[in-house]
Amino acid sequence: MTANIRAIDLLHGDSDVHGEHIEVAPSISVSTTFRGTLDELALDEIDLKNPGRHVYSRYTQDISTRVEHILGKLLDGHALTYASGLAACFAALVFYKPKRIAIRGGYWGCHNTIKIYNKCRDVPVDVIDLDDEFKPGDLCWLETPVNPTGESRDIRYYADKIHQVGGKLVVDATFAPPPLQYPFKLGADCILHSATKYIAGHSDLLSGVLVVKTEDEWKELFGNRTYSGTVMGSLEAWLLLRSLRTFHLRIVRQSSTATALVQWLHSVASTPKDGSFDGVPGGVLTKVFHSSLQEVDSRGFHPSQQMPGGWSATFSILLATKEYAKVLPYLTKYFVPATSLGGVESLIEYRARADPDEDPTLIRLSIGVEDFEV
Ligand SMILES: *Cc1c(COP(=O)(O)O)cnc(C)c1O
Repeated sequence: MTANIRAIDLLHGDSDVHGEHIEVAPSISVSTTFRGTLDELALDEIDLKNPGRHVYSRYTQDISTRVEHILGKLLDGHALTYASGLAACFAALVFYKPKRIAIRGGYWGCHNTIKIYNKCRDVPVDVIDLDDEFKPGDLCWLETPVNPTGESRDIRYYADKIHQVGGKLVVDATFAPPPLQYPFKLGADCILHSATKYIAGHSDLLSGVLVVKTEDEWKELFGNRTYSGTVMGSLEAWLLLRSLRTFHLRIVRQSSTATALVQWLHSVASTPKDGSFDGVPGGVLTKVFHSSLQEVDSRGFHPSQQMPGGWSATFSILLATKEYAKVLPYLTKYFVPATSLGGVESLIEYRARADPDEDPTLIRLSIGVEDFEV
């Protein structure tokens, strides 16, 4: 399995988009509408993947088209952007129209999106567990690495399991974009990213991406997006294009610093109550969750089989008491106490504040591009 991003795709993967790109960095254009000409093509004659002209920004505009070309190359399929990760999640539900959804834990927002989707249906979709028996009409929704722990689930196993009943596998790969993980190589049918996180990486825009394998699927998604109006904003598209140019530098750096920090924290967590490690007393930190610390499971799966390019830069720790966990985010010098993940600055969050069902001793850490030691 290869594990590298072609920098050329990020820097020049949009050069085939129509138009004269004389500006090195494109101008910010927020125009929603575009002047027509006497000989212009009708809407249904326009090549939506690479329009010769734009009509109205709910269909296409220059920068989001450029972003989608780059994302298609980066994520190895046909990519379509949305207003947010959850808008992409909703679009995937509408696209697959499952009878049942197999899902376990993960980002709590996706479970609420399923509830909204159910409002459009007479009969709500049944939600089952990943390890329940699958039936025809099921959709398997696999988040990996999973929020908030950063631990991995076996993509190939669930791909085979759902394909046996003719169903589809959506992988929410937000925690591990390339070069960390390539879900299509392991049998996924659709990849979802909250581009708000690593892909944008600067905590300044909301966006989501769906990646599918065929142009026909992409066209159907495009039509659905146009008439549900969940398009990414033009300004966000500009910021996202700016971000993509350095994506390969950020993700590799974030992953390696996080992995070093996980090792260090794991040593702290392994220190007995009466001891200390690097000046940190034992017994305060009780556990570290991360794919790199996972054991081989009962089916023989280990995350190293599907994460060729490094581990996730978001992970969680457990502290000895709820009181410790509540205050820790406000005692760190450089970690910003805030929700979200994937940005250039490291974030620390008392997770039960965002997700009431979460373990009250759990802290989530998102590692940015700072040095490992300052
Ligand atoms: C943040 C997140 C989402 C939702 O993305 P938004 O851009 O906030 O809508 C979906 N899945 C995972 C795993 C996430 O971390």
